[in-house]
Amino acid sequence: MASDPVCKMNVDEKTAKWTSEHEGTTYYFCAEGCKEDFEDNPDWFLKGGGTTSHRC
Ligand SMILES: [Zn+2]
Repeated sequence: MASDPVCKMNVDEKTAKWTSEHEGTTYYFCAEGCKEDFEDNPDWFLKGGGTTSHRC
């Protein structure tokens, strides 16, 4: 299991539909909204910034 860096939900790498590569690492998302939020500001989420408006 991977962890969605936006909402912290567990995401199965084998079935994940939404992925994003950032600085050589692949991240997995539970929904398109989380992926979009991450891609808007990846460093924020990787620092553990979290979100109050995730869309999953
Ligand atoms: Zn999510």
